[in-house]
Parts: sequence; C-alpha cells; structure tokens
Amino acid sequence: MLHTIGPHLVLGFVAYCVYVVPCIFMALSYYKIGREPLWLYLVLSLLFTPIVTWLVRIFVPPNENVLDRRKKKLAWRMACPYCSEQIAYRAIYCKHCHSNV
Ligand SMILES: [Zn+2]
Repeated sequence: MLHTIGPHLVLGFVAYCVYVVPCIFMALSYYKIGREPLWLYLVLSLLFTPIVTWLVRIFVPPNENVLDRRKKKLAWRMACPYCSEQIAYRAIYCKHCHSNV
C-alpha cells in the first residue's frame, strides 16, 4: 500500500495534517473571543501560518457584541425585571405580572 501511493505523498499528507491541526486550534481560539466566521480564521491561519495568526491574536480585542449575543442565546430564560419570575428571553410581555418587558 505504502509503495503504491509513494512515501513522499504519505509524508506530505502527514505534514499537512500536522499543519492543519494548529490552524484549526487558532480558528477556534478566534471563535472563542467572538471573531466569526470560523472558516475565515481557518483560511487565514492556513494562508499566513498559525504562528502569524497566533501573534496577531494578542492584539485582537474580543468582539463583545458577538459574545453577548451568544450568552443571551444560551440563556433561554431570564428573570422579569419587575417580578423576578423566570420568563422566556424573547418575551415582550410577562405572564406573571403582566408588565411589558
Ligand atoms: Zn413579571
């Protein structure tokens, strides 16, 4: 099997995999601080090497808007500001105290 596809091809594939893994980690690292989309940072890591994207990552501030949006998406429910009962996050009207949220 190995000599039919060539040892260089196998070696190249292994090297490619070894290179892609840190690129994926860098893309995930950017995603974690709210930098989207994931594929863009994966492509940038692949093009400019994960070392460059890792160095740039130090100067990139987290995207608070995206992080806030994600946090709200995770929390499906919130406390009503008037009666403190749990209501749906998207609710505009509290079913407990009948106030507009
Ligand atoms: Zn309420």
